[in-house]
This record gives sequence, structure tokens and C-alpha cells, in this order.
Amino acid sequence: MTTSSFELERLCDELGPLRITHLHDAVTGLRAVVVVDNVACGPSIGGVRMAPDVTTEEVSRLARAMTLKNAGAGLPHGGGKAGILADPTTPGKERLIRSFARAIRDLTDFVPGPDMGTDETCMAWILDEIGRSVGLPRVVGGIPLDELGATGFGLAVCAEIAADFAKLDLSRATLAIEGFGNVGRPAARFLADRGVTLVAASDSKGAIHDPDGIDVDALVAAKRDTGSVTGYGRGRRIGQHELFALPFDILIPAARPDCIHEENVEGIRAKLVLQGANIPATPAAEARLHEQGVLVVPDFIANAGGVICAAVEFHGGSEASVFPQIEDKIGRNTREVLERTCTEGVRPRRAAEEMARARVEGAMALRGHP
Ligand code: NAD
Repeated sequence: MTTSSFELERLCDELGPLRITHLHDAVTGLRAVVVVDNVACGPSIGGVRMAPDVTTEEVSRLARAMTLKNAGAGLPHGGGKAGILADPTTPGKERLIRSFARAIRDLTDFVPGPDMGTDETCMAWILDEIGRSVGLPRVVGGIPLDELGATGFGLAVCAEIAADFAKLDLSRATLAIEGFGNVGRPAARFLADRGVTLVAASDSKGAIHDPDGIDVDALVAAKRDTGSVTGYGRGRRIGQHELFALPFDILIPAARPDCIHEENVEGIRAKLVLQGANIPATPAAEARLHEQGVLVVPDFIANAGGVICAAVEFHGGSEASVFPQIEDKIGRNTREVLERTCTEGVRPRRAAEEMARARVEGAMALRGHP
């Protein structure tokens, strides 16, 4: 994994990163990077992404997104992120995760959580090794954020507020989800409860489209039983990339970064984009969406449900308090950001970044890091 000096320069600013640590264990084959971006608000919390092609730049951008997300949500935590270069389906996964855990033992200002390619079981292995992780299974005292669908619930809360600003009636709105995983799946369910009709969904193996509406429970079962949304018996199988150009009102990108880019942005006709994934659009594509009149709720506002849940767990809170906290924090932040967007004519990301940065800078001033 390489980071050229040019990239590093581009990634650094007055907030961070505080530290980039590359890890290599020749015995276990571990290759990983941990970026601690900023700890002014408290020890950093961030996910551990396992993918064969994860880069230092991707992890650094994600660590910054966590700084802003945690500060935006008013959590006493800074931002960090880790990437393990490996196929998440590798048979030696437990050995690799345990090796990663031992390698980060002394990086005590980084608290790892689940991300793409890792889950609650992986967090239990890390806890077992070093006594520090979040997003744990119930049997070891955790509040399983993916099982609850914490991030998906937060996206539904966000949709309820943002719909007014996008002039959308949720009970008649249609939805497409890119990445039907731990974020996309519960988002579809919680939005279906609010009357939204899912018309398209994709995963790493393909996509499915049914303009008459997809039965979310049947799609979840098809994904579980066949390993892909393409196993859904009805509708039309399409290529993943075709999803973006379909007609629908709400788009939730919930997979890898930069899936909305210069080549596909003009085809997107949605009224509302809720960023379930972290950094799912290139900056240029996000600006273009704004010009096309699409309301975009940025990642670190819309998908904060998971980390809010993780912070409740870390501080010994109850499972019952998770959804009310998500509703309160995401609801309030979405409204504040979109009201500023309307009254001051700034883009939602700028309004959100200013709000979150002000909180981080306030904390930095108190910590003696002006
Ligand atoms: P996941 O691994 O459970 O699901 C990802 C899904 O995306 C899978 O279904 C996978 O098949 C699919 N996918 C992969 N490549 C794809 C492609 N090219 N096109 C379409 N689909 C593709 O991961 P997750 O936990 O749902 O996380 C998804 C995103 O949301 C990541 O960016 C993650 O950082 C972010 N996020 C997750 C949480 C959380 O609570 N899990 C919280 C905040 C943000």
C-alpha cells in the first residue's frame, strides 16, 4: 500500500491526519493501514475495512469523514479508520483479524468498529485480543448495530426530514439502493415501513429492477439464500451500473466510495440522494448533482446511525436508548444542515462541514491545539 508525498500533502490540513500507521506481519501475511485523523473530541472511533484493493488515500478520506461524523453527531470521539488489504472471504480471516488486533494494541486512541468486509464476530475477535472494539455481538455485552440496522434506521429518519426539503411525499416515493448490505438492507426495510417503494437494488454480483415494486422481505431472503439480489425471482436483472440511470425518487448509495462519478452523474434523475456509504460521490459529481437540482444529504450526516449506536455501546448505554438517540441526533442535524442550505444558498456538504468543523475546532482549542 503506497502513499505518495503528493497524496499525503493533499490529505493533510489543519484538522489532521494525526497519524498514519502501516502494519505488516510477515508471519500472518497482515498488510494494513490505520489512520487516526483527529482526537480533539476524544479517542477516535472508526471502522475496519477489509478489501483486497483498499488504499491509504481511501482510508485517510474515510478517517476524515469519521472526524466530521462523530463531531457532527456530538459524540465524545474523534475520527479514525483502518484498512486491511485482503479478500474478506479468505479462509484465514480470523487469523488475520487477530493479527491486526495485536498490531494495533498500542494505538489506544483508535477504537475499531465494523465496516465493509468485517462484522460483529470480527469485533469480538479484536476484543478478545486487546479488550478494545465496538459493534460487538450481544453475547459479549455489545449492541449489534448491523443486526439492529442502526445505520439504515438513521437513513430513514434522515429521509423523513429531507423529503420536505426535496418536496417529496414519502408514501408515493420510489427508491433505488446501490449495495444491498448491512446499510442498504435495513434502509430498504425502514423506508418500506414509511411507505416508500423499492424499485431497484444492487450488490457486487449484479442488480435487479422492478418498476412495480420489489418486496423487501423477499429480496432479503433471496440475498440470504442465493448470495445475491439477482436471485430475486421477479423483475429484470440488470448490470450494477445501469441502476443509476433508472427512474426513481430517492437514491441510497451504500457500497464503495466514488460510485457516483463524472461518467454517470448526469443520468441520475432522483430528487434526493441519501449517502448511506461513506464518500460515495466524487466531489465533482456531488457538485453536479447539486446543479441538477438533486438534494444530497452528505454521508457524515445521513449514515451516522452506526457510530451513534457504537458510542452508546462504548459508554455502557442501553440498547433501548439507541434508536431514540439516532432519531434525535440525525433528525436535528439533517434539519439544521438543510435549513442552512435553503436560507444561505450553500451546498449541504458545505453547511454540514462548517457545522462539524466548528465543533472539532472548538474541541481543539480546549485541548491546546489551536
Ligand atoms: P456490507 O459489506 O454489509 O455491504 C456492502 C454491499 O455492497 C454488499 O451487498 C456488496 O455486495 C455490495 N457491493 C460491493 N461492491 C458493489 C458494487 N460495485 N456495486 C453494487 N454493490 C456492491 O457493507 P456495509 O456495512 O453495508 O457498508 C456499506 C457502506 O456503508 C460502506 O461505505 C461503509 O463504510 C458505510 N457505512 C456502514 C455503516 C454500518 O453501520 N455498517 C455505517 C456507516 C457507513
